[in-house]
Formats: sequence, C-alpha cells, structure tokens
Amino acid sequence: MSDWRLSVAAYGGPEAIAREDLGTLRPGPGEVVVRHRAIGINFIDTYHRTGLYPVPLPAGLGVEAAGIVEALGEGVDGFSVGERVAYVTRTPGSYATARTIAAAELISLPDDVDDDLAAAALLKGLTAEALIFRCARIEKGATALVHAAAGGVGQILVQWLHAAGVTVIAHAGSAEKAEIARKMGADHVLHGGFNTLAEDVRALTDGRGVHVSFDGVGAASWTASLDALARRGMMVTFGNASGPVPPFSPLELSRRGSLFVTRPTLFDYIVTPEERQAAADRLFAALADGTVKITIGQRFALGDAADAHRALEARQTTGSTLLIP
Ligand code: NDP
Repeated sequence: MSDWRLSVAAYGGPEAIAREDLGTLRPGPGEVVVRHRAIGINFIDTYHRTGLYPVPLPAGLGVEAAGIVEALGEGVDGFSVGERVAYVTRTPGSYATARTIAAAELISLPDDVDDDLAAAALLKGLTAEALIFRCARIEKGATALVHAAAGGVGQILVQWLHAAGVTVIAHAGSAEKAEIARKMGADHVLHGGFNTLAEDVRALTDGRGVHVSFDGVGAASWTASLDALARRGMMVTFGNASGPVPPFSPLELSRRGSLFVTRPTLFDYIVTPEERQAAADRLFAALADGTVKITIGQRFALGDAADAHRALEARQTTGSTLLIP
C-alpha cells in the first residue's frame, strides 16, 4: 500500500480535507523520509485549511510529527535509518503516513520522550519556551495573564510560568477548563466571557494589572488583554483562535500606560538547527524533571482529522491532540 496524506485542494471547513495518494516517497538531496508514528494537531493547521495563513494549493496539513527515519537523501549526515526523530516545520504536510522533510528540520529525541509525547509536546512546548524566556523575558515575581489556559499551549505556559516564579492568572472558556488550569499551577482562575475579565484581573492584582498578557485567542480577547495590563506591560499576541486581531492605533498603547505589543511566531525563534535543538533540549529537560507535564486530551485516527478540527474549533478539546497513522 502506498503512502497517503490529507490535504486541501481549496480553502474551506473541515469537509475540505481529503485523502491524497503520495506514491513512493523518495528523499531529495538533504532530505529524509520520516515514517510517522504520531502527529501533533495544532490550531495553526486550521489557519492553513481556511487560508487565514495562505499556503500554495493543493496543500498538505500539519506541521509536526514524530517517527522513524526510513531513508536518507544525498548529503545527509548526522541521522541514520531507524533513528527516532521529530520535527516542526513551516511547510504543512505532516497529516500523512510518512513524508519527506529537510534533515535540517529534524530534532533528535531522547529515549525518555516517546513518540506520542514528542508529537504532543514539541511545537506547543517550543512555543511556550520561546514566549516565556526569549520573547516576554518575564521575571520571577511578575504576574501574567494566560488565555485558553486548559488548551495545548496554555497548559504548558501555566506550568512553566508557575515554576519560574510568576504569579499566573489563567482564563478559560468554562469552569471545568478553569479547574484544569488550577491543577496545572495557576494561582487564580477565571472563566466565561471577556467583558469583565480586565476588571477581574485588576481586582486580583490590587488594581495594578499584569506584567504580561499571553493571548492566543486573538480577536475576542484583544481588548480585555490590553485593559488587563499594568503600566508598561507587554501584550504577547500569538494566535487567532477566535479570529485575527483587527487593526489598531498605537495611541491605544499610550492611552493604557505605554504598553508594548509583540506578535511572535515560533519559527523566528528556532531559525537555525542549533537554536532549534537548544530550545528542544530545554523543553526535554523541563519534561524530564517534571516542570512541564503534557496532557494528551484527545487521540484521533489520521483519517479522522476533520473530526479533530471540528472539536478544536468548537473549543471542545483540552491539552494536546494527536493523530495516529
Ligand atoms: P488550543 O488547544 O489552545 O485551542 C484553542 C483554544 O482557544 C480553545 O480551546 C479555546 O479555549 C480558545 N478559544 C477562545 N475563543 C475561541 C474561539 N472562538 N474558537 C476557538 N477557540 C477559542 O490550541 P493550541 O494550543 O494549538 O494553540 C493555542 C493558540 O496558540 C492558537 O491561537 C495558535 O494559533 C497559537 N499558536 C501560536 C504559535 C506561534 O508561533 N505564534 C505557535 C503555536 C500556537 P477556551 O474555551 O478555554 O477559551
């Protein structure tokens, strides 16, 4: 049986996802074939599917997986056939039984990180590492607001910030999810809509507000996140789960107390293989010493990726979601 992947021929809803035969995979120069054992689902996959982040069509979906190196292209060294690896990549195409990928994008896996854990932890954990330590550079004793705190990235942010000595105010869509965030180490949990969120955050911080808002929700939470910030606080807007943030005037930042805004993407924080492996090693160390625990909230068969997208977009998932080929 030949390999296959899921792709979209035209942007659309989950129903646009269709199966595509890949024939026999052959690695080009500098590439390897990775046979997938576990594939991580990320919210960005829905942006590729809808065209919010445009990709050339037809387009594969999925930007991370873990598996086994099956074949080496010309000029590849440092990896061998049979080795366990994982990758995160800008180029969608990991919703597949196997794929070709540049060897420069591979990450070596320690023995104690199994395939499911690697696919569940990597992109989301690297994102949390970059946002906390290299983007916001938040310090011990500071206070942070984390949205979607029971989600994939959210659970990792809460745990890592807590371990770094940051007071975490977590927000989630429901009381049940807020309770998950509390168990992850959030000092305060809030749930429901965004209308009174800033007020509630100020009530928890003696009126001062938080030093950093970590906001992957986007349009729906934008104003609440800004209003919840302390003077000279930093807005880290890193996602669009509820839709992209609309254009805004820089005067909005001045009016609220000389705020900073950054719109990071992980791929600017893992540019070279060395930078990527160093970030991954920091994540693996946090997994090994228990600082960060990964919850795999849902597993779907690869062929059921459309159902996984429906669940993710309906706010029905918690933690990480895997596709199993
Ligand atoms: P999540 O598991 O966090 O799922 C998204 C969550 O967003 C939902 O569970 C829900 O949590 C919340 N949400 C709020 N409003 C909506 C809405 N209208 N529709 C859907 N969800 C909503 O996903 P991920 O962990 O994969 O990603 C989290 C965010 O981080 C995404 O925006 C993603 O794009 C971004 N991201 C950005 C990266 C970067 O490099 N910039 C890298 C990785 C992720 P609740 O119900 O609790 O509010």
